Amino acid sequence: MVINKPRLLIIGGGFAGVWAALAAAKQIEDAGVEIEIVLLSKDANISMRPRLYQKNPLALYAPLAPTIDPVGVKFIHATASAIDPVNKTLTYETSDGKTDNLNYDRLVVALGSETYTPPVPGLAACAWTINTHNEAFALDAHLQKLSSRPSNKSSARFIIIGSGMCGIEMATEMRARITQHAGAEYAAQTRIVLLERNDKIAPSLGDGTRFANKTIILTAGLRANALCATLAETPGVTVDALGRLNVDATLRVQGLSDVFAAGDAAHAFTDDTHVALMSCQHAAPTGRRADTLARATLDT
Ligand SMILES: Cc1cc2nc3c(=O)[nH]c(=O)nc-3n(C[C@H](O)[C@H](O)[C@H](O)COP(=O)(O)OP(=O)(O)OC[C@H]3O[C@@H](n4cnc5c(N)ncnc54)[C@H](O)[C@@H]3O)c2cc1C
Repeated sequence: MVINKPRLLIIGGGFAGVWAALAAAKQIEDAGVEIEIVLLSKDANISMRPRLYQKNPLALYAPLAPTIDPVGVKFIHATASAIDPVNKTLTYETSDGKTDNLNYDRLVVALGSETYTPPVPGLAACAWTINTHNEAFALDAHLQKLSSRPSNKSSARFIIIGSGMCGIEMATEMRARITQHAGAEYAAQTRIVLLERNDKIAPSLGDGTRFANKTIILTAGLRANALCATLAETPGVTVDALGRLNVDATLRVQGLSDVFAAGDAAHAFTDDTHVALMSCQHAAPTGRRADTLARATLDT
């Protein structure tokens, strides 16, 4: 593909990626220069992830097009599968199974994060997660079927694994959700358990305790999108214990002059000593730092 103008490619259409696209568009418009901005995401909608513990996730989902089309950001609906930082090329797959490549002058990695699954045998197969809209929707559908279940209500248990931000929100919301889905009587008789590991993950499960008639929801923390770690195969590029790319003060990935990272994909310092959390509070402003990225692209 022939590139007529420099291309800023942003991968991931969450809080960080969308803010990066919007901030870059403003920078480029203000500078009056010709730079193409492409946002590639596997979801054509933005999901309100912090509220996915709530009922009716469909209401927490909005199309990207009305936000990015008016400012001239080109959208590609596809899944990024490989980044070649030497040849500055992204490989991606479309929903109809086609593989294609796209080159870039500057790349912003804003691929977000995934739920961590502890190595507890059988856990991945039986636990629900609420990391993405589709996962939250599946859990919602499961909870909607509660009222049609057999009558052993008193043994029904809802086990939430991990008492971080998501786990606490899920646990405190759960009885209200059960009430909405299956009625107050069912909700009053069910037991909601929040499991926290202390020194090991879900010790009750690990010690052989068995729960019948249960719904297990896994909220054991987040890990950066797995594609970040593949960049660490390049000499000089490193990731932290959560799989986030180590970046400098301008969000430039250490060891890669053309690649930046934002949001949950970045291990970024907020000042001299504090590291940004995996949170919306940090994803949005790190995305907005795309003005820095746009200027960098202008220099090509
Ligand atoms: C249940 C839950 C509750 C939370 N509660 C809070 C809270 O109360 N407060 C708070 O501040 N934070 C909360 N968080 C964390 C917050 O949601 C994240 O920190 C924030 O969404 C990170 O934004 P991001 O843009 O970096 O990533 P994301 O929002 O995850 O966006 C990543 C984007 O990349 C896309 N993508 C992923 N892989 C690919 C790929 N291979 N190719 C193309 N596109 C891809 C995704 O579809 C998505 O659009 C919560 C998270 C969860 C899961």
